[in-house]
Amino acid sequence: MKARPVFSVDRRCSAAQRRLGAFINEQAESARTAIAADFQRLRRAHGLPPVLLIGWKHYRLPEPFACPECGGSVCFEVDEWSSATGMPSAGGVRVMCVDEEEELDRSMQAGEDPAWTHRHWQDEGWMSLIRRVERFCASNVRILARELD
Ligand SMILES: [Zn+2]
Repeated sequence: MKARPVFSVDRRCSAAQRRLGAFINEQAESARTAIAADFQRLRRAHGLPPVLLIGWKHYRLPEPFACPECGGSVCFEVDEWSSATGMPSAGGVRVMCVDEEEELDRSMQAGEDPAWTHRHWQDEGWMSLIRRVERFCASNVRILARELD
């Protein structure tokens, strides 16, 4: 009786578990994106008011918004908004790459320098994305309040 086949089965099981986990995450992410897009479409179709964000941190944007550098999901944070209307101010919306934010969080937790970062060049890719997110916020998002970190 050799130990190797048992080890191999264990390894295959953990590899299968990792693949299953990745598959579930991918499906869940895809469903969240579809739900967010359907919600915005139906909200407009039924003439409902923009989404009110209360005590939130990052708001993940639905497709077709995508990072101009890696093509991944993007999210935003609102730094400034009108206290009268709750509308995010032009220039008060910070757009971020979700994968990059996760890498920054990971490296900060580990006390390391990030393994990679985007360049955030002020080129047409990021500038056009920021303008589109600002338009999205103006028609879809209102801020009521935000919890302090
Ligand atoms: Zn990215």
